[in-house]
Amino acid sequence: MIVEIISTGTELLLGQIVNTNAPWLAQQLNELGFSVVYQSTVGDNRERMSQVFNIALNRADIVITSGGLGPTQGDITKEVSADLLNRKPCLHQPSVARIEKYFSGRGIAMPESNLRQAMIPADAIVLDNDQGTAPGVILEENNKIIIHLPGPPSELKAMFTHSVIPYLNRRYSTQGIIVSRVLRVYGIGESSLEAKIQDLVKAQVNPTIALLAKDSEIHIRLTAKSEDACEAQKAIESVERVIRDRLGNSIFGTDADSLEMVVGQLLREKKLTVALAESCTGGLISSRLTDIAGSSDYVIGGIVCYSNSVKRDFVGVPEEILQSYGAVSEPTALSMASNIKHKFGAAIGIGVTGIAGPGGAVADKPVGLVYIAIDGPKGSRCFEFHFSGHRKGIKQRTSQAALFELQRYALEI
Ligand code: ATP
Ligand code: MG
Repeated sequence: MIVEIISTGTELLLGQIVNTNAPWLAQQLNELGFSVVYQSTVGDNRERMSQVFNIALNRADIVITSGGLGPTQGDITKEVSADLLNRKPCLHQPSVARIEKYFSGRGIAMPESNLRQAMIPADAIVLDNDQGTAPGVILEENNKIIIHLPGPPSELKAMFTHSVIPYLNRRYSTQGIIVSRVLRVYGIGESSLEAKIQDLVKAQVNPTIALLAKDSEIHIRLTAKSEDACEAQKAIESVERVIRDRLGNSIFGTDADSLEMVVGQLLREKKLTVALAESCTGGLISSRLTDIAGSSDYVIGGIVCYSNSVKRDFVGVPEEILQSYGAVSEPTALSMASNIKHKFGAAIGIGVTGIAGPGGAVADKPVGLVYIAIDGPKGSRCFEFHFSGHRKGIKQRTSQAALFELQRYALEI
């Protein structure tokens, strides 16, 4: 089934808001087995919107729009499609009741203008809005479908998940069930990863295997299609086993797992605690670890030791080490890791020092040189990295590498 997503709203064309709805919808639909082949954006102008809807209905089976279901005069999406399809708009009483209830629940009288939102083209399927006032609408016309969703992302997502997916599943049940799983890989380049699983990628039929490089990770998406979910799941599991055999613990997680989440679970399971001395990351690793609820179980604390004096006076790196090897060096990183571990009484200490750039490079220490040291029950070790890119990217990649090495280290304990 061919899908076109149409984002409506003059603010999008003016660059005043970033279109997050279209990529979100595209991802959801592709995962469900629908092919999103076109995306368009159009402003709040009747004539142009009508043209765009018309073109979309000619070249796609399903047209999904976002935005323009609000109460103002600029919100015209449903009116445009009602005109285009010759469906007279009528006041939809259950929606009037819902909108009134929404306002009375907040102790406000419903503004008259909100009644516009309950004007629904004839013979439409109405989708309730749990998060706001505007109902969504599905119009079926000659084997084509047009679905209007509200613009605010929270409303759009909830309506798509709770109403549109069940509708599409019912309507296109013959398409089979699609199950997908993402294996998240870190620490191996895209081309070497491809080489390791090339035969599988070439032979792929069901499940299909797609690689996507994303934020210094690679995602391997396995997508299986079958008559029933159980069979699709089995197909995925058998390919996943083969891939895991080849990639080992380069696969750090699946689906929505983040590295900080996986590391956190591991530290909790193994009853390990961690303390951090961060220089070039400015606290980013601590920040990521503490993004996870309940991280107080395993994060003791840290010091952002940006200057040499803080490395020396607060973390305890000996002046001789700083003088002889420099702040960005393996001995400094190791000393940071072991001192912070002892000072904070943690099971594991992490020390990170590097040159995030753009300045600060010297002959033998280029921008992107980073040392990550870990000290703990399995002894101390230090890793040298050469990252490329801008300052923020280098900080991000450093935090990713540190979390990944922490995971590897903790797996050995
Ligand atoms: P409302 O009832 O709020 O007017 P609506 O369905 O009429 O909702 P719009 O008026 O088009 O939708 O957009 C309302 C708000 O939703 C925008 O100001 C913006 O914050 C957000 N929004 C709209 N479209 C998008 C989009 N494609 N991506 C991200 N946010 C969007
Ligand atoms: Mg609006």
